[in-house]
Formats: sequence, structure tokens, C-alpha cells
Amino acid sequence: MGQIIDGKALSAAIKDEVRAEVPALERQYGRKPCLCVIIVGENPASQVYVRNKVKAAEYVGIDSQKIELPVETSEEALLSRIAALNADPLVDGILVQLPLPRHIDEEKVIDAIAREKDVDGFHPGNVACLWLGKDCIVPCTPAGILRLIDSTGVSLSGKQAVVVGRSNIVGKPVAKLLLDRNATVTVAHSRTADLGAVTRQADVLVVAVGRAGLITGDMVKPGAVVIDVGMNRNAEGKLCGDVDFASCEPVAGWITPVPGGVGPMTIAMLMVNTLRCFQARQAR
Ligand code: NDP
Repeated sequence: MGQIIDGKALSAAIKDEVRAEVPALERQYGRKPCLCVIIVGENPASQVYVRNKVKAAEYVGIDSQKIELPVETSEEALLSRIAALNADPLVDGILVQLPLPRHIDEEKVIDAIAREKDVDGFHPGNVACLWLGKDCIVPCTPAGILRLIDSTGVSLSGKQAVVVGRSNIVGKPVAKLLLDRNATVTVAHSRTADLGAVTRQADVLVVAVGRAGLITGDMVKPGAVVIDVGMNRNAEGKLCGDVDFASCEPVAGWITPVPGGVGPMTIAMLMVNTLRCFQARQAR
């Protein structure tokens, strides 16, 4: 029977650590860190994510600003809002909730956010530093995944790690972070031949695909640490991951549930990143 990795409890502990740090920072610098979240349009899932991010900011005691723009907002208007926030000395973190409406070029928007305020860690400057092993803002979900793995006490050094999914926001950065911890890393994707043969090698299996139930118990190495990043809705509209929990949990050594695994960690790490951006800017 796999032990459940409780992302909700771990994220609560991380948020409490951030909350404990804020008063001293406020005394030292005369203000609280400030996170700005921009949402364009009315995508219901995005609205829930943004609401949760603002709620977390309130909980940890940092300032937050939610900027809601109508779906017809032009790319130019969004870019000029970002430019104003970049120039605002009282704003420490800027997050643009993705996905954006189709008429807006996401890459342009990500590039426009000042690197030192890029709390998501998506800016090419941050991505380059991550891959070069330089100081950078680590994207929230990958950073949260590493914290979840660390919470098991399983050491990554010398282990076989398999990441399923190669997106810029999850799969690739997770692979790099696992490599940094001296795991031997394989990245699988939609063209991988015999996915099960690959995933069965994994001492640590991270799945970030977006397909409910893709990974079944027969694809998991007994005792493996299984991290399910997927967020899908099943036929009944219930949130579920990429890992078929019922068949994988008896095989795994450790496993994250959905919900209550990676999701809350992403938000906790956003709070950590906001604090770090604030501290880095104040220290300059
Ligand atoms: P993307 O759609 O950007 O990437 C999906 C990846 O999965 C691609 O690399 C794709 O391969 C691969 N893939 C697709 N089908 C298969 C398959 N049958 N077998 C193996 N690999 C496959 O997704 P994201 O990385 O953005 O997100 C992945 C999941 O994680 C989603 O469910 C998303 O909602 C969730 N998510 C959750 C977060 C959280 O906080 N909990 C945060 C971010 C994402 P290829 O490159 O070949 O197309």
C-alpha cells in the first residue's frame, strides 16, 4: 500500500513559514511584499486558480492586487498594463494567468514581464538560468513537486526518475531539477514507444500529461514515488489526475492524490517566489 503524500498539509506548512517571515520583512523594509495577478477573460478554471492565489496571499499576509481584464482586451493593452506594473516599485511579483485568449501571444506576454518580478519563473531569462544552474526563480509547480518528493525522505541521488510530459511549464523544468539532484532522468512524451516499459523503470515517476488515468498500476515499479500533476475532469465532472489512483496506490511506495497533491503546492510555492522576488529587489 502506497503512503499518501499530503500536498495539502505540506502546502499549509510552507504557507505558515512564509506567513511567519512577513512581519520581520515588513519591519525591515517598511512594506509588505505585493503580488499582482492578471486575468484576461472569464475562463472558469482560471478564475478558481486566481481566486485561490489571492486567498493564499491574504493568508500569508502579503498584499495582492487582482487585475481583471475583459476577454476582448488587446495584446497591446495587456502589454502596456504589464509595463506599468514592471515600473511600479511597490509591485514585487507579476503573474498573468494562462491560458490567454487566442488573439494574445502568450510568449510575448511572458517575455514582457520584468525578469525580477516573474514569480512564475517562465521568463526566458529565468528559464536560461535554471538550465545553466544559475540563481533563478524556479517555476512553482516543478518547485512544489521537488518539495513533495523531499517530504518522503527518499533520496534522488542515483535513482531512476521518469517524467512523463515535456511541457515548458512542468515536464522540462522538473526534469532539470531532478537532474540537479543527481537522478538519472528519462523524459517520456506522446511519441514514446511502450510508455509502460519506460515508467516501470522509475523509482520516481512524475506524470504531467493531462489525460485521466493514463498511468495504471501495471506501469508502476513496486515501491516507486508517484507524483501526479494532472488535473482533469472525469465524466461526472470530478477532478482527477493522470494516474489511475485505484490501481497505482497498492503498487507505489508513495503517491500524491488529486486533488490535494501537487495543486496546493503550486500555490504555496507562488507565495515563496513572491517573497524571494521582494527580498531580491529590496537587497539591490
Ligand atoms: P501540456 O499539454 O503542455 O503537455 C502535455 C505533455 O504530455 C506533452 O509533452 C505531451 O507530449 C505529453 N503527452 C500527451 N499525451 C501523451 C501520452 N499519451 N503519453 C505520453 N505523453 C503524452 O500540459 P502541461 O504540462 O501544461 O500540463 C499537464 C497536466 O498537468 C495538465 O493536466 C495540467 O492541467 C496539469 N497541471 C497542473 C498544475 C498544478 O498546479 N497541479 C500546474 C500545471 C499543469 P508531446 O510533447 O509529444 O505533445
